[in-house]
Parts: sequence; structure tokens; C-alpha cells
Amino acid sequence: MKFHITTFGCQMNVHDSQWLARALTSRGWEEAGEDEAQVYILNTCSVRDKPEQKVYSELGRVAAHLKRDENVFAAVGGCVAQQIGRGFFERFPFVRLVFGSDGIAGAPNALERIAENLDDRVALLDFVTLYEEREPPSETVPVADETRQAFVNIMQGCDNFCAYCIVPYTRGRQKSRDPEAILAECRSLAEDGVREITLLGQNVNSFGLDKGGKGVSFAQLLHSVAAIPGLDRLRFTTSHPKDIAPEVIRAFGELPNLCPSLHLPMQAGSDRVLKAMRRKYDMARYLSIVDGLREARPDISLTTDLIVGFPGETEEDFLQTLEMVERVGFESSFSFKYSDRPGVAAVNMEPKVPAEEAAERLLRLQTLQNNITRKCLKNLVGARTDAFIEGLSRMQEDGAVSWKGRDPAGRIVNVVMEERTGLTGMMVPVKIVEAKKHSLVGERAGQPW
Ligand code: SAM
Ligand code: SF4
Repeated sequence: MKFHITTFGCQMNVHDSQWLARALTSRGWEEAGEDEAQVYILNTCSVRDKPEQKVYSELGRVAAHLKRDENVFAAVGGCVAQQIGRGFFERFPFVRLVFGSDGIAGAPNALERIAENLDDRVALLDFVTLYEEREPPSETVPVADETRQAFVNIMQGCDNFCAYCIVPYTRGRQKSRDPEAILAECRSLAEDGVREITLLGQNVNSFGLDKGGKGVSFAQLLHSVAAIPGLDRLRFTTSHPKDIAPEVIRAFGELPNLCPSLHLPMQAGSDRVLKAMRRKYDMARYLSIVDGLREARPDISLTTDLIVGFPGETEEDFLQTLEMVERVGFESSFSFKYSDRPGVAAVNMEPKVPAEEAAERLLRLQTLQNNITRKCLKNLVGARTDAFIEGLSRMQEDGAVSWKGRDPAGRIVNVVMEERTGLTGMMVPVKIVEAKKHSLVGERAGQPW
């Protein structure tokens, strides 16, 4: 069978799709382009915007392939699948499988069954209370790809119920994964040549605070993973400020391969709004975490998520967000206009901020952020670092080949080099020579390793 996966949303969805692709490849299925596939899998996200509309229009495109092959069918997974569920079967008869994020472990078997009996319809929508291990790929499918970077899931779901967020409803309650299974996966990736691992979860700082985790804290897990031979870079995301332990902050100063960057979603700079958002920290606490991180690792790069126009946000509140963004000096941020999600607490909060006002605030925030980003990047000109090469960059200069890499903090560094092949997955020592709007330009300053 030939399959095609389309992924919306966060890194967790990207990672889920990668796992699904490997599991299907292990069964002899083949990943194919959009015009060749028989099975279309949409891995969806409903955190913002108009997610259902996006999925419906994507399914409209899949329907067009039925003219080419009447046995074409589709599977919808992720947050939108969890919300709409069997509703997809009625609206789009060629949808044969729906699965939520807790149901994904069963998706490969279900797809195989459906491929044998095209009349089957399967819904994998139950939430589980313990992390369900997913099957490893067969030995014929490489666990590491060329980039020598990998994501490793350490938990599923979220217990925080921030007032604006749909995740706890679509991905279920928090379930930590068995630390031994996490370590075994990380070891096997490193043995296969992976040099950079990103540990993934909705709130990694609360790892082990549920029934899973076997008493291992997130800080302990970090120390164990960091000790795996061959691992040059370790990252993790996402980190909720309320749960970050002093041991995790200290780890930035203790573990040389823990990368000097942290994505620490602040969401708003006003204590009043943070309280309404149910974030359970105030700005004094947030700033003390920032101080602790900078003490442990002075070169740490901080990035964040911000929401503007949360119900009840005044101009005064918004100005506090601007002030805090400047004070912390985030290197970059993802900023969003608040959008109502079905069933979350903020739906009933008033007054709503008019759309034009929220758009105007977003623009002001992004203008400020661009200025800060520019300054941070400019300060790096002249510095020496290692760029971990991910592949060729899009821009090619005068026939020379430009490669795209990342410095330890995750900043993009483009480097022009003579080699046309063979550098992906290598570290290249570089000197930073120029700062662009969102990236750096480096000059090779040593042998790739
Ligand atoms: N677990 C992470 C945390 O607590 O920071 C965030 C995960 S959430 C999927 C990613 C980001 O989407 C959030 O940090 C928030 O900024 C944004 N987001 C979530 N719900 C939103 C909503 N209803 N409207 C606008 N932005 C939203
Ligand atoms: Fe959503 Fe809050 Fe959980 Fe993050 S911590 S996923 S924002 S509920």
C-alpha cells in the first residue's frame, strides 16, 4: 500500500506522524507523493484558527483522488479527530479511520485491517490512563535519519487546563512514559548515530507527577539522557514555568550537552491576565526563573509563546506584556491572537477583545519582537560556534552551495561551503560574520566533525 501523511500543528504531531510512517513502512507499506497514494492520513491540530475548515478542505482534495482510484481511503488523526470523531464517517464516506492522540498506537494495525476490508470503519477515540508504549520500527527501517536529530516522547496529554487551551480535552490527561523505555529509545537512537535528541511533552517539567514516571523526576531523566555516549545535543520542549524545578534550572549549568536554550511560554506579562488564564505563576516568579537560568547558563537563549487579546485584556495589561518581553529580552517568540476553542473556560469570559484591537496589538508586539531579535542576533557577530548541519539551505549564492545548520541555542546559521554533499549530520566550526532578520551567516572556521 502507498500512503501519504499530511501533518498540522506542533512538534508532537510531527513526531507522531514520523512514528506512524515508520510503523507502516515496517509493515511493507510505502510512503508516496500526493498523486500516487492509496491511503491519505491527516494528522490534525485544533489549538488555534479554524482547524476543522482546514481539515475539511484537505479532505476535499483527497476526494478528488477517488476519480483516479475508487479504493482510495483516508484516516484522520489528532485533535480534530478526537473532537469530531465518527462525524467524519458521515460527512466523508471515504474516511475509514479516526484516531485520537491516545489511539495512535493502534492506528497501524487498524489501517492494515481496513486495507484488507474496505468496508471497515474504525474509531480509536478512547483516552488511556497510562502511557501506551508504541511498537518500535522493524530492523529493516532505520531509526535515525540523515540529519542525526530525533524527537523522543516522554509523556502524553496535559493536566493543566489553562483557560484558553483545548489540549487537555483533545489529548487527555497527563501520562508519563516509563523512564526505562525513554532511556532505551534514546540509547538505541544514539547507537544508530543520532547526535541530537529533543525530549517532547506538553509540560515536561511535570514529568513523573502522574501515575507513570516510576518516581523519576524530569531533572533526573535529563541527567540520565545527557550521559548517553555520543549525544552531542540535548533539548526539551515544552516547559511550563509553574513546574520548573530548581534542579532543572541548575542542569543548564551542569550538563555540557544540554543546549543553552529554553522555550518558556509566558503567555502574558500582566498578573491579572495570567490569573484569568489559570497559568498559576505571576511575573515575579517568571522573572526569578529567568534570573536563575541566566545565572546557571549566562549564554542561554530564551524564547516564548504569547497570546494577545485574551478576554478582559486591557491596553494597560497589554503594555505590561510589551514591557516584560523587553525586560526578558526573548530572542524570538510565537505570538497569537486569542481564539475561542469549544468547551474551554475562556469561552465564557467577558469582555472579548474586538478582533481589530487584537490584530493591532499583535502587530505592535511582533514589531517589538523583531527589533529585539535583530539586536540579539547582531550581538553574535564575531562569535565562534559549531553549526550542526541539517541540509542545503534554500538560498544558493553565485553557484556556491549554502548549507543550513543550527548553533547550540538552535539559531539558524547558513554557511557557504565548497562541498555539495556529505555535510548533513556534521558539526562545522564557524565564525559568525553576519546577522540577518531571523538567522545568522557563518564562515567555516575548522574541519567538520
Ligand atoms: N504546553 C505548552 C505550554 O503550556 O506552554 C503549550 C502548548 S499549546 C499547544 C501552544 C501554544 O498555543 C500555547 O503556548 C499558546 O500560546 C497557544 N494557544 C493555545 N490555545 C490558544 C488559544 N485558544 N488562542 C490562542 N493561542 C492559543
Ligand atoms: Fe495547554 Fe496549558 Fe496544557 Fe500547555 S499547559 S497544553 S497551554 S493546558
